[in-house]
Amino acid sequence: MSEFGLASNGLHPRDEWVAQRVSGAKCIVPNGTWFYITRLPGYAISRPTFDRWLVDGAVDDGAELRTSTKVTGIARHDGGWRIEANGETIESRILIGADGPASFVARQAGLVRNLERIGAYEYRFRREDVPLLDPEYFLLYIGEAYNGGYAWIFPKGDSVNVGAGGHIDAHAATVDFCRKFGIDVDRRTQTIAGSIPARYDLTALGAPGLAIAGDAAGITNPLNGAGIHPGIFSGRVAGEFAVNALEREDPNSMVGYDQAMKASPFLDPLLFWMIDRIRRWGDRLMNSVGEELDGLDWRAVNPRMIVSVLLRKPWLGIHAREFYRMILALELCDRYGW
Ligand SMILES: Cc1cc2nc3c(=O)[nH]c(=O)nc-3n(C[C@H](O)[C@H](O)[C@H](O)COP(=O)(O)OP(=O)(O)OC[C@H]3O[C@@H](n4cnc5c(N)ncnc54)[C@H](O)[C@@H]3O)c2cc1C
Repeated sequence: MSEFGLASNGLHPRDEWVAQRVSGAKCIVPNGTWFYITRLPGYAISRPTFDRWLVDGAVDDGAELRTSTKVTGIARHDGGWRIEANGETIESRILIGADGPASFVARQAGLVRNLERIGAYEYRFRREDVPLLDPEYFLLYIGEAYNGGYAWIFPKGDSVNVGAGGHIDAHAATVDFCRKFGIDVDRRTQTIAGSIPARYDLTALGAPGLAIAGDAAGITNPLNGAGIHPGIFSGRVAGEFAVNALEREDPNSMVGYDQAMKASPFLDPLLFWMIDRIRRWGDRLMNSVGEELDGLDWRAVNPRMIVSVLLRKPWLGIHAREFYRMILALELCDRYGW
C-alpha cells in the first residue's frame, strides 16, 4: 500500500505490520524489458497483523467484536436491519456489508446485477529462494498469457510473494511462471488463493441504512486488482456516512454513499475502459512498448519521443489513443496511490 494510501486515510505505518518499505513498482513485458509503473513509495504489509491491529483499534473505541459469526440472512424492517447470524437475530439501525468478493449482504439486499471476478493465486517463499527478486520494487509481469492480468514478485521483508491473477487459470499461471523463472515451487512456505472483483454491477452501493464496502462492492483498482487501499478508503467513508446517519437519525442519508464512491478515482470508468483494451494487446505490442521505455518511467513519454517512435514503428500509430488514455490512467493511479 502506498504511503499516500495510508496517510490519506489517517493511518501511520507501524513496525508491527510493515514487512518492508518499497520504492514503487516496475512493469516487465514478455521480452524482459521493463519500465516504472510508479515510484510512489509504500509498504509491503503483513495482512493478518494489520487486520488484527485495525480490529483492536475498533474494539478500543467501543466496537463489539464477534469472530466465527456467519451472517446467514438480512432483512430490512422499519428504520433498520434485522441480521441473522449463528442462529441469533441482531437488530441494527445501520448495516455495512464489508464481507468480501462473494458479496452476501449486497446479494441479500437485492443490489447485485452482475459480479465478474478474476482468480488470484500466490505462493510465499523465503527471500533466498527467489532469484529474480528486486529488493526495492514490486515487479509486475504482463503478457498476453495473463489476459489483462499479470504475474508478480513482491518483496516482503524476509519473504517474497509470487503469484498470478487475471481472466486465467491463476494456479496454472503461477506454477508456469515459477518454472519459467527458476523458482522451485516445492520450496514455498505458504499458499494463498482467492478471487478479486474485476467488474461489479450493483444497482447502488448505498441504500437506506445500508452501505457496501471493499471487495463486496467491487471497489478494487481494475488495472492492477489492488483492493487494500480501496477497501480502507470505502470502509472509512461508509463509516463516516453511518455516523452521520445515526447522529441525524436519518438512515436515508446512507444513499449518498453511492455517489461518494462513484465519484472516487477507484471506480473511474477510464480504468475499466483501459483494462478492456489491455486485454486485447498481444505480446508484440507489449514488447514494443517495453523496448521504447526500457528502464524509464512512463512519465518520460513526450511529444518528441512519440514522433521518433512513430517514424520507426508506424504500426503503433493505431494504438495512439490507447497509449494516450493509458498515460491518463497511470496518472490517475499515481495521484491516489496504489
Ligand atoms: C491471492 C491474492 C493476492 C492479493 N494481493 C493483493 C495485493 O498485493 N494488494 C492489494 O491491495 N490487494 C491484494 N488482493 C486483494 C485484497 O486481498 C482484497 O481486495 C482485500 O482483502 C479486500 O478487503 P475486504 O475487507 O473488502 O474483503 P475481505 O478481505 O475478503 O474480508 C471480508 C471478510 O468478511 C467475512 N465474511 C464473508 N462472508 C461473511 C458472512 N456471511 N458473515 C460474516 N462474515 C463474512 C470474511 O470471512 C472476511 O473476513 C489480493 C487478493 C488475492 C486473492
